[in-house]
Amino acid sequence: MRIAIVGCGVAGSFLLNRIPPEHQVEAFEMREKDKWWAVCAWGTSAPFISDLVAQAGLNFEDYILFRGKSMIVDPGNGKTFNIKLNGLVTFDKTRLFGDMKKGKNIHWGAHPKDISELKGFDMVIDATGFHRSMMPKLEHDAAIPCFEVEVEGKFPWDDFYIKPYPGLSGYFWYFPLGEGRGHIGAGDFKSQYRGEIEAMVKKYDWKVVRRIGRPVRILAPAYMGPFYTEPKCLSCGNTIHNKKFLSNANKMKSVQTAGAMMSSSSGGQVATTTFAERGGSSSGGAAQPSERPNPLNGHGWCDCSSPRPDGPLVVGVGESIGTVYPLLGEGIIPSMQCVNMFVEHMDDMEAYSEAVLKHFDIYAKVYRFIKAKMDGNFSVLRQFPEMASMYWHMKTNERRYGLETHLRDILKVVNV
Ligand SMILES: Cc1cc2nc3c(=O)[nH]c(=O)nc-3n(C[C@H](O)[C@H](O)[C@H](O)COP(=O)(O)OP(=O)(O)OC[C@H]3O[C@@H](n4cnc5c(N)ncnc54)[C@H](O)[C@@H]3O)c2cc1C
Repeated sequence: MRIAIVGCGVAGSFLLNRIPPEHQVEAFEMREKDKWWAVCAWGTSAPFISDLVAQAGLNFEDYILFRGKSMIVDPGNGKTFNIKLNGLVTFDKTRLFGDMKKGKNIHWGAHPKDISELKGFDMVIDATGFHRSMMPKLEHDAAIPCFEVEVEGKFPWDDFYIKPYPGLSGYFWYFPLGEGRGHIGAGDFKSQYRGEIEAMVKKYDWKVVRRIGRPVRILAPAYMGPFYTEPKCLSCGNTIHNKKFLSNANKMKSVQTAGAMMSSSSGGQVATTTFAERGGSSSGGAAQPSERPNPLNGHGWCDCSSPRPDGPLVVGVGESIGTVYPLLGEGIIPSMQCVNMFVEHMDDMEAYSEAVLKHFDIYAKVYRFIKAKMDGNFSVLRQFPEMASMYWHMKTNERRYGLETHLRDILKVVNV
């Protein structure tokens, strides 16, 4: 298959190393090569991400900047407390994901606005993160505006520091980068950090190396499907089911496929998926395409023996489909996990969707919990099931998050 990866951040760079070599892969990154920078606080769990990074043939240890021992949490009531860290580190994210791109076929400074600019590809992967440039516009989204400065100087904290904002609408952070450098940032739904960071820069006389910012998506995958759009057949006008399309694309010579697709400039349609049919549920087995209605274009499925697709299959991977842990705004490991789910199921988009929904089911619960808090609708009784799930998830995944989880700490943060 000819595959275009749009966006070379976490998911795009990792994908370039994970897609099997029998496919022809080209990537498109809107930034110029020497201007690509990872907008992020660069925090992650070393023991957990090491295995993922090894799958791209790299050694995570070579990129670690600072190893945390204890995170200082300031709930704003004068009662600061500490969370023991078990592997939370900062690492040089720009260098790591830069190294994953070395020797790959990348068009730098290329900013395709939609799939009509990517003719000749069988599949287009939207790895544009928050931008989601290749996928249909969302009716409802949820993102937290963030601002961050990389600074040099002396810091009042000797380890990771966070200060949640009232109503749990976000938090302020200091992530040490070692050798007198640090990321000072804040993400907050209500932008309560305005002025606060610049005032601190003045107060502590820090030298600002760079100022960066972008929103981080907190809407969970369960609220974002479908995760792919299937093309229509130019002969019959019906939607080509992804399994049929993918097995044809894998069989056909890519040049024939390209010829068929270049005869049309119209984009693929948003087709139905098991996700849509089940209203977001990840349970149950997929029905055969011929048995399933296709309510989104009302025309049913293409039955042609040689379908002529009007465009590529478009698939979202990473933050473009909501793989960010909403409580922390943490998206590096989840985007890499999502890449692996995609690679495992790249011949069956329903199976990919099922895997995403199942794995990130907890994100939907945490999102509902955060939303209730931010909307001022929070009640311990009502949100107890989500709170309990969140606690249990983090308690049983301490290596995954790189920190120890105690109920008393969660309650202190939740009550902010
Ligand atoms: C301020 C901030 C701090 C964060 N801190 C952390 C943290 O400490 N730890 C953590 O785990 N997560 C953190 N996150 C979240 C994490 O950075 C993201 O969730 C993660 O990088 C998402 O990976 P991705 O590949 O989906 O998208 P990204 O890494 O954002 O990559 C998207 C890429 O697509 C490119 N692009 C966009 N549109 C187009 C287009 N049309 N054409 C071509 N290229 C395009 C962009 O230039 C970019 O290179 C933070 C986020 C923010 C905003």
